[in-house]
Amino acid sequence: MQIKLTSPTYSRKHNILGLGKHELLLLMLEFETQPKRASMRVNQVWSWIYCHGIRSFDNMTNIDKNLRAKLKNVFKISLPNIEKKEVSNDGTIKYLFCLEDQSKIETVFIPEKTRSTLCISSQVGCTLSCSFCHTGTQKLVRNLSSQEIIGQVIAVYDDLDLWEKIKAEGSRSSFFKVITNIVFMGMGEPLLNYEEVKKACNVLMDSKGLDFSRRRITLSTAGVVPKIKKAHDEIGCMIAVSLHATEDKTRNDLVPINKKWNLKQLISSLKDDVKLRNSERITFEYVMLDGVNDTNEDAHRLVRLLKGLPSKVNLIPFNSWTGSQYKRSSTDRIKAFRDVIIKSRLPSPIRKPRGEDIMAACGQLKSSSIKEKARI
Ligand code: SAH
Repeated sequence: MQIKLTSPTYSRKHNILGLGKHELLLLMLEFETQPKRASMRVNQVWSWIYCHGIRSFDNMTNIDKNLRAKLKNVFKISLPNIEKKEVSNDGTIKYLFCLEDQSKIETVFIPEKTRSTLCISSQVGCTLSCSFCHTGTQKLVRNLSSQEIIGQVIAVYDDLDLWEKIKAEGSRSSFFKVITNIVFMGMGEPLLNYEEVKKACNVLMDSKGLDFSRRRITLSTAGVVPKIKKAHDEIGCMIAVSLHATEDKTRNDLVPINKKWNLKQLISSLKDDVKLRNSERITFEYVMLDGVNDTNEDAHRLVRLLKGLPSKVNLIPFNSWTGSQYKRSSTDRIKAFRDVIIKSRLPSPIRKPRGEDIMAACGQLKSSSIKEKARI
């Protein structure tokens, strides 16, 4: 990649937040021609941004003043704006972010007793039109850049004061106070934005920065089959697959991408191509829809489908939204379904809906950009 810092695009400052280390190095070489020194500068800037939450070059005190001034002229470290923040009575926080082009995305912080998860978006909207998912009804769609993906994480660190908490409490910090896990389960299909998602994951996993281990990052996909193996090989993070049905007929209705890659292709690729590491499992998400996919027969079929594949099945009670055609299965039905799966020795937790009162639960995200556009 060759970026000319004198080019007209540089009259607008370049956002370096969320760039890969290699990209940052190429930029830095314009200022420090000696590769060793450039690399040292990258490490310094990296540490300020990702270990200390610093975003002003003036505060990067171990970099000499002249260089700081030059960097400040051409670069910026900028975040998406928090346009709205809603706190649920269960502690879940939903952020509505406004991006530079005024697109809106949502990010959800989910504190629990033993961990805290940040659910981030990979696209504005989603093209997949899963019939039970609210995000799919949003028309505006575009990929997020790595900057915008990482921007969500850093903005939440800032908002919750996590830099200070991490510093003050070190390893003693309570789980609910820091982010322990990142899941790409917000708006969008991460595997349709592969390169930017990969870049963002590499920033998240860098051991001299945010330092999330690959096991604490989960990519959730509706089933973009060729990209699952690629993501597993190249990024190495955990994979969750939104299964939701055990027969093509039902899955075509619920997750239309099934018409492109059907259940057989999906499952055989997971069994044959994806080489799981020690004790690693694929997580399957299964939304419980009353009368659609929730019989004991479905559960037995699910067990047969996953036979031989190290798996875990997350049962998600359907989260309702105005205008949706589905109903949540009853609690008894969900438990009976779970019991069938557990008998086959697959872990099968029932996911507790979080942040329902603020529409922050799975599949309820849909930024208000359309409504607002219409109003304007
Ligand atoms: N596109 C990706 C990630 C986004 S959705 C994917 O499909 O996996 C994250 C999870 O929430 C998916 O399993 C999705 O199917 C599920 N989901 C969507 N709408 C839901 C709803 N209304 N109730 C419960 N879960 C839902």
